Amino acid sequence: MAPGLARGSLLITDGQGILRTMFLDEVRIYVKAGDGGDGMVSFRREKYIPFGGPDGGDGGNGADIVLVVSPRLNTLQTFERVRRFIGHNGGRGGSAKKTGATADPLLIDVPPGTVVRDADSGELLADLTEVGQRVVVAQGGRGGRGNFHFRSSTNQAPRIGEKGAPGEERNLALELKLIADIGIVGVPNAGKSTLLSVISAARPKIAPYPFTTLTPNLGVVLIGDSEVVFADIPGLVEGAHAGVGLGHSFLRHIQRTRLLIHLLDGASANPLADFAQINSELALFDPDLANKPQIVVLNKADIPEARAQSSRIERAARKHGHEFMVISAITRDGVSELLYAVLEALKSLPEPERPNEEVPVFRPADEEAFEIVRENAGYRVVGARIERAAAMTYWEYDEAVMRFQRILDAVGVTDALRRAGCGEGDTVLIGDYELEWIDRW
Ligand code: GDP
Ligand code: MG
Repeated sequence: MAPGLARGSLLITDGQGILRTMFLDEVRIYVKAGDGGDGMVSFRREKYIPFGGPDGGDGGNGADIVLVVSPRLNTLQTFERVRRFIGHNGGRGGSAKKTGATADPLLIDVPPGTVVRDADSGELLADLTEVGQRVVVAQGGRGGRGNFHFRSSTNQAPRIGEKGAPGEERNLALELKLIADIGIVGVPNAGKSTLLSVISAARPKIAPYPFTTLTPNLGVVLIGDSEVVFADIPGLVEGAHAGVGLGHSFLRHIQRTRLLIHLLDGASANPLADFAQINSELALFDPDLANKPQIVVLNKADIPEARAQSSRIERAARKHGHEFMVISAITRDGVSELLYAVLEALKSLPEPERPNEEVPVFRPADEEAFEIVRENAGYRVVGARIERAAAMTYWEYDEAVMRFQRILDAVGVTDALRRAGCGEGDTVLIGDYELEWIDRW
């Protein structure tokens, strides 16, 4: 048992208010707007007037079907049960030119990030991002006109009225571009994917070797009555290794998260060096990321070596002002406590922004990202981010140095150095650090 872990804590129970949820990221629904009310055929009847004029009123319009972006929803879960939405019909017209009641629109709440398509034609109908944004997906039928409208000089007693127009009907495909609240970061093998699979119904790839997670995996966890979206976020290194550029979705997710779970691999030789390294990656990526609140979580508490390191790591984490917890993703010890800590932390954090415009993407080849300058001593890599990342690297640990090397590969520094003519034995300067170039190819 790891210190501080309650034995037998059950993660997935209703009693504790934590539920695994099926992750619905796409759903088909059927909508049918209300029909218009029929127009009335009627004639005035008054005392002493044998043939009153036509006075049939118009039918009311049928209900529109309207999607509305709700701040309370994070998923398409609500559509698991109800998938047919039928609007009310408009009221019939009455005598004495009385217009039938117009039906109130049928409002359907959807989460921010919902993309709406016509399921049959594939046509894109709406991309709903802003809270409160609404779109009419099916128009209610217009009410039919009453016979009052049909009088003319030649026909003073029209016996015709219109029927209400039928409401539109449509099959819709709703797709959710989910945005994570919580990012799970950590070195390859820390157990990010395992943790995500344990807390949610997501099924990420889990493997006993690094570099498995190349795109963020998302999982939705219902904690209490809050839907919290977690993303297992591959590191720069993991993506770089597979030659996969860090795509837009990666950034979108990590930049919009409100809180990071920084997972440490308890089986690592030096989890603190890993910790610093990941923070340096984050800073390299986007200085704002490095400032996001973190809960530092030591994983693999089922392994004695992990537990042995726990108090040293806890001191360091707290020194940085981070909350610290110990879990075993595999045995689930401490995991429900972690989820509640996450929920508590979220409560005190500002609401996420969901800007409409695209998040700027950090491109490895960005001119501003770095520059190679020839100096007498060697090749200097100039760039605030790279220098910061270097400053945060524990050069005394081979693992950390290797990872830094991979970051250099990932952001294009290695190629740029080679192009600049840097070769075997040359010195590379980054900030206060001097490195020696060794050709690996
Ligand atoms: P990721 O690279 O951070 O996504 O890590 P994975 O979730 O793929 O896990 C890497 C390896 O660590 C896998 O072999 C997991 O089975 C193992 N692992 C994950 N969590 C734990 C844990 O709590 N205890 C132990 N002993 N192994 C774990
Ligand atoms: Mg993974």
